[in-house]
Amino acid sequence: MGDHEAGGGEGLTGSSPAEAAALLEAGRLLFARPVQFLRGIAELDQLPPFGLPEVAFAGRSNVGKSSLINALLGRTSMARTSNTPGRTQEINFFDLAGRLILVDLPGYGFASAPKDKVARWTRLVRGYLKGRPVLRRAVLLVDSRHGLKDSDREMMSHLDAAAVVYQVVLTKVDKIKAADAEAVRAATALEIAKHAAAHPTIILTSSEKGAGIADLRAELATLAQAEPVP
Ligand code: GDP
Repeated sequence: MGDHEAGGGEGLTGSSPAEAAALLEAGRLLFARPVQFLRGIAELDQLPPFGLPEVAFAGRSNVGKSSLINALLGRTSMARTSNTPGRTQEINFFDLAGRLILVDLPGYGFASAPKDKVARWTRLVRGYLKGRPVLRRAVLLVDSRHGLKDSDREMMSHLDAAAVVYQVVLTKVDKIKAADAEAVRAATALEIAKHAAAHPTIILTSSEKGAGIADLRAELATLAQAEPVP
């Protein structure tokens, strides 16, 4: 299949080659712009006021969420990795060029997490999802080696309940054969087709090798606030 290289455009929703090229360029330009850490919140009353459109990133701990956000931004250290103590239960907000807010949701799926920690996570994340009219889409990260797990299905039910459109992005495709990644994509597509809030396009990514990053930038650029007309 050979789609492990950067570049792409073939996965972009309903677009001709010329449109895909324009979308890729818009994505490249947007993500080349400055990004600023706005705030990290641990309580719902600290949420920033509604403003720019938001895109939230969700996934199991260790799925590669920080790596993906850093790859999108072309940075090595904007989003902290899950191993940073104290930050793992926060929602972090980043302002991209005054056009789009990237929202890094806390990871989930610790098998051994204490009950109160799970309850806190659920209150914070559900509260955010339910009360956020500016939230345009959630990017649901799934490890391409494992496919959807029950904790992802729980996350999907939170997103369905909050009527937030979510798009599955498979991570770490450099770790498996292209044919295996394709099989996981097909199985995932089949399962998410039953969910009204699921976006049909699944993007395969590798933060390590850059695969799919340009496509995801292009997809997210379509959700950003338009550039102000001079
Ligand atoms: P998070 O907990 O979801 O934020 O995950 P991290 O971004 O901290 O990544 C978890 C681990 O997976 C780290 O050891 C990363 O180096 C590794 N990782 C993340 N993305 C990729 C990828 O695209 N390819 C490979 N091979 N490893 C990755």
